[in-house]
Amino acid sequence: MAKGKKSGSFTAGVDIGGTKIAVGIVTPDGELVDSNRKSTPVRDPDAVLEVIVELLDGFSEYKIEAVGIGVAGLIDSSRSRVIFAPNLGWVEEPLRQQVERAVGLPTVIENDANAAAWGEYRFGAGRNRGDRDLVMVTVGTGIGGGMVLGGALQRGANGIGAEFGHLRLVPDGRLCGCGRHGCWEQYASGNALVRTARGLASERRPEASVMLGLGDGTPEGVQGPHVTEAAQRGDEVAIEAFEVIGAWLARGMVEVATLLDPAAFVIGGGVVEAGDLLLAPAKREYAAQLVARAQRPMTDIIPAELGNLAGIVGAADLARDHGPLPDVVRPAAARSAAGTEREAAVAAATGSAKKVAKAVESSTAAAKSAASRKSPSVASKTPKK
Ligand SMILES: [Zn+2]
Repeated sequence: MAKGKKSGSFTAGVDIGGTKIAVGIVTPDGELVDSNRKSTPVRDPDAVLEVIVELLDGFSEYKIEAVGIGVAGLIDSSRSRVIFAPNLGWVEEPLRQQVERAVGLPTVIENDANAAAWGEYRFGAGRNRGDRDLVMVTVGTGIGGGMVLGGALQRGANGIGAEFGHLRLVPDGRLCGCGRHGCWEQYASGNALVRTARGLASERRPEASVMLGLGDGTPEGVQGPHVTEAAQRGDEVAIEAFEVIGAWLARGMVEVATLLDPAAFVIGGGVVEAGDLLLAPAKREYAAQLVARAQRPMTDIIPAELGNLAGIVGAADLARDHGPLPDVVRPAAARSAAGTEREAAVAAATGSAKKVAKAVESSTAAAKSAASRKSPSVASKTPKK
């Protein structure tokens, strides 16, 4: 072990969000021992790569064994390519290969909701439960999800399974961003909560006075946090908005349960911060709608525990099982030019410490010079939303 390195087995988890890139150093027990973050350069994959390298470079005191990266988007089943990440403006980015070449460490890419589901399964709400079948539903702006069946994360044949938010709950229902109608996330997401609250408030202004007062006084001025705060303060219209959303959340879960029969649903995302305002009506409706309810135990519906760290911790853990390095199809010229980095990446995967160190040194030279000018403004080391 190199002098000055902290002892232990560490992997790095990276969360590429629309506004922040967060990196955490994680132990095999899922403990986050160090973290840092920087702003996301949007629509510029090369700049994102530079930020990832710079952030990882800041943890040189840890001997990092592998890197797991969570990205909001469609990821191919070999966990190598970002097929489509609308929030980042990416199409067909071979991110795994790029990071491996840049940092000389085995790397895997994962859908962010899958990574979060794995993090919760291993170290959050799912730990100590002994379940092998658990579904996570992330209720944020839209609905995301991940499923662990038989103790393994399920990605589907093309890596794009578990897109729960686009299950069709209402034939010919509301138009969704995906181009179809009636998707679950049009009825049970953070956006749906705001839409519902505004609709109810415009019909019943006097009853919604608390909620309206938190915004600019108009239904259109109501934002997500206003609904939560108003409901917590007893605003009947805000409470009803949560009941509507909770019921829709349940209806989607019932469909998922009909297919998968999980032991538990772990509910994550910003909306679940409202706690029982959301979960109580969800449980009521779920119990009322579940198929063969009398013949089966009630599925546990529990809040997530790791918050925004679930994706980092999950991605870092998934990186421990990185498998063979990908042989991404590239043009012959690029392939030969990348020969050295390829060797370095292979060396990294086979655990040759000296070669790894050399590879990191040569391939991150540019990033290092950037890192030496590192802004002291990176004060917050704990990623929070
Ligand atoms: Zn949709």
